Amino acid sequence: MAKRVLIVGGVAGGASCAARLRRQAEDAEIVVFDRGPYVSFANCGLPYYVGNVIKDEKKLLVASAELFKTRFNIEVRTEHEVTAIDREHREIEVKRLLTGEVYREKYDALVLSPGANPIRPELPGIDLPGIFVLRTIPDSRGIRLWIAEQKVSRAVIIGGGLVGLEMAENLATRGISVTVVEMLDQVLPPLDPEMAEPVQEHLAKSGVSLHLSDALAGFEQSSTGGLVVKTASGALLPADLVILSIGVRAEIKIAKDAGLTIGERGGIRVDEQMRTSDPAIWAVGDAVETRNFVTGEWGLVPLAGPANRQGRVAADSICGREAYFRGVQGTAVCGLFGMTVATTGANEKTLRRLGITGYQKIYLHPGQHVAYYPGASPIHMKLLFAMDDGRILGAQALGQDGVEKRIDVIAMAIQNGASVFDLEEAELCYAPQFGAAKDPVNMAGMIAGNVLRGDVSLAEWEALPNTEALLVDVRQPEEFAAGHIEGAINLPLPQLRSRLGELPRDREIWLNCGVGQRSYYALRMLLQHGFKARNLSGGFTTYKHFRPRLHDGAAAASS
Ligand SMILES: Cc1cc2nc3c(=O)[nH]c(=O)nc-3n(C[C@H](O)[C@H](O)[C@H](O)COP(=O)(O)OP(=O)(O)OC[C@H]3O[C@@H](n4cnc5c(N)ncnc54)[C@H](O)[C@@H]3O)c2cc1C
Repeated sequence: MAKRVLIVGGVAGGASCAARLRRQAEDAEIVVFDRGPYVSFANCGLPYYVGNVIKDEKKLLVASAELFKTRFNIEVRTEHEVTAIDREHREIEVKRLLTGEVYREKYDALVLSPGANPIRPELPGIDLPGIFVLRTIPDSRGIRLWIAEQKVSRAVIIGGGLVGLEMAENLATRGISVTVVEMLDQVLPPLDPEMAEPVQEHLAKSGVSLHLSDALAGFEQSSTGGLVVKTASGALLPADLVILSIGVRAEIKIAKDAGLTIGERGGIRVDEQMRTSDPAIWAVGDAVETRNFVTGEWGLVPLAGPANRQGRVAADSICGREAYFRGVQGTAVCGLFGMTVATTGANEKTLRRLGITGYQKIYLHPGQHVAYYPGASPIHMKLLFAMDDGRILGAQALGQDGVEKRIDVIAMAIQNGASVFDLEEAELCYAPQFGAAKDPVNMAGMIAGNVLRGDVSLAEWEALPNTEALLVDVRQPEEFAAGHIEGAINLPLPQLRSRLGELPRDREIWLNCGVGQRSYYALRMLLQHGFKARNLSGGFTTYKHFRPRLHDGAAAASS
């Protein structure tokens, strides 16, 4: 066991590594360095502190330097920046930020958990007052102060990712009018575009203005007070407050200067035990590249869960235990104005980018619990799976309630290499207020299983604008009248059996209903009567999510 372990960065990865180390090695000397004023604080809670949901700043401090000392006998040195690593002599160079004093410390094992820095693009006006990033408690304190002092009524958020949208919600609930500028044609990049569509609608309904497909071009001081945000399309957006949340860059300076291997995605390269290219140095968290569990690709996934688990793996590895990090699958959740959005595994954009073709996708919209129990609301789900063996590749879901529970089950299934047939068979909690005897997870497995068993053939939504197929909507006439797929005819399911003679046998028939269930019954009927038929997965509800992209050619562009 290494006698002296030094840890750079004392928040998610570093703190969990330090505490785990102590539990394994009572005799080790453990010192944690952090350049900030705190260790072990809740970065994930910062948007909610800005939004005044968390009112007391002290609640963000999960553990203090004193607690580390008294409970774990771990020495924490805050406001101490590690400026260099001398690998040859196994020493680090440390700068005490309050005095400027520089000194060196010896290590037997060194752990790097320096995190990532918010990106601040070199654009005109970037240093004007009122432009903030959010990474630390002082950052959030600064934003709160600015809101109070400047009486902020208009905010522009640059970047529509998880943190950007959490900030949008928190500022809006403080009565601030919020505009989000996003370079992509969708918010929440981990989602596929059609799954982002309902999120965008929900944001708009909640009063958030979205500027999609528009890049930030710069800032100017407004003559009437406040700032003007300039975008590439020429838009001029007035703002009293700007939050930059366009992503983070792995903090690799000292690792790179020390000659540690850096991967092609710009993170520190580590093995499955979180060991860097130097056997005496480990690295964890946002600063490292990890393999994607589903695709095998190296990537940077800045999430708290992986950082914490990697910290534990590094501690075990330092203590000579057999511990391995399995890889990341990007399981994430976000709450937005009463909507929950969650995802795990690969999305379709990634599969296409990697040239992976042997997959299938299904959409479903089950209630989070049985319809007869008060408060039922739909969960919109997309499941991606391998065509050869049914292995689950990824899932995305959104709705009001019960969303993250379903994604968590699927996340675990993915990590165990499970297939859609396992989802069919999963025995999950059920009582009327919690789910259904066929839980949404079971339903997803059953629908996908039906596809793999050949009981259902699916039509591609993206092919809709150019199909020669006859589109048949089997809902009731009043449902059809309220809205239907362009070009579809209405043949309600109760009449279908007696009107089969009206359907062509020399032309494919694409069926749809509200969510895909009645059209599945219709499909089974038509197939057994010898028709060439396919189901449009998820029905008219999925069509509404696809519609903006189907009729302006964007679907083709996004593929
Ligand atoms: C606003 C916000 C909300 C988030 N919400 C979520 C969420 O809901 N769910 C989720 O999974 N993830 C969330 N994250 C991401 C999550 O917080 C990070 O993935 C996680 O904290 C990474 O842990 P880490 O140990 O790698 O880095 P950090 O937790 O960032 O810690 C790195 C520490 O190292 C210190 N440091 C860096 N360089 C040096 C140096 N040279 N010397 C000394 N100290 C140094 C830094 O000051 C910092 O304190 C959020 C992040 C932010 C900013």
